[in-house]
Amino acid sequence: GKNRDELDFILLQTIRASTMVEKEIIRLNKIENYRKEFIGDISHELKTPIFAIQGFIETLLNGAIHDKEVNEVFLKKAMRNVNRLIYLTKDLMEISRLETGEMKSNFQEMYLRDVVLDVVESLQYKAQKENVEIIVKDFDKNLQVRADRNQIKQVLINLIENGIKYNREGGHVEVGIRDKQGSKEKIWLYITDTGIGIDSKDIARVTERFFRVDKSRSREKGGTGLGLSIVKHIIEAHGEELKIESRPDSGSTFSFSLTQVSHVSV
Ligand code: ADP
Repeated sequence: GKNRDELDFILLQTIRASTMVEKEIIRLNKIENYRKEFIGDISHELKTPIFAIQGFIETLLNGAIHDKEVNEVFLKKAMRNVNRLIYLTKDLMEISRLETGEMKSNFQEMYLRDVVLDVVESLQYKAQKENVEIIVKDFDKNLQVRADRNQIKQVLINLIENGIKYNREGGHVEVGIRDKQGSKEKIWLYITDTGIGIDSKDIARVTERFFRVDKSRSREKGGTGLGLSIVKHIIEAHGEELKIESRPDSGSTFSFSLTQVSHVSV
């Protein structure tokens, strides 16, 4: 009868509500775990340079300070580790802003060629130091995309810098636009290098924060293990895609899509 229907209805609503509560608990747990993991990772990353600095200062205070040569060597080493902490802090702030969504993308139309040339120029010095050549393929000077200028610069800096860091003596990094396939709006920018490459089992992991194939190589080159996670976040915030292809000992290609601005000619 009627009472039975009402009871069924109430029961159904109660089940629905408890499923919702359960889902919400799972969501909050995920965030909480993520936060814990993040803090664990950060503490671990900070420990290495901080203990190194402590060791150098301790040795100096224990008498090494009176030996002029040792003195200078140790201070330089301490300074290198301080610099590491500075890079790390900068990257962490960037990641945290991206992950909390605090960093709003400021989309604007821009000439892609200008942005690429700007970034390449700022990295020439680094490339020369490592004896790596940066080659910029012809970019259509009228090609405009809609994106956040600073964020796209950051993506290019991180990818080209990696192409330099994980290259070989006399190698090169090439930046260009892929031949268009399919969609008219999307273009694909690629950064390809002649470097050490990435093992297929690691390709999917390189965008995880703090993941490095070779910790000591990354450290030695001033890496933080955050560069590619920043890249991935920015590209996702743009609603675009990142692709990684690589072969050990032969090189890697990182490419990402961008949305072209179409102009109606008058
Ligand atoms: P890092 O600061 O260590 O360079 P990234 O997040 O930029 O951190 O990259 C993560 C790891 O992916 C690097 O430590 C390196 O092992 C690998 N990697 C990134 N880019 C390349 C590349 N172009 N060639 C080979 N390995 C790369």
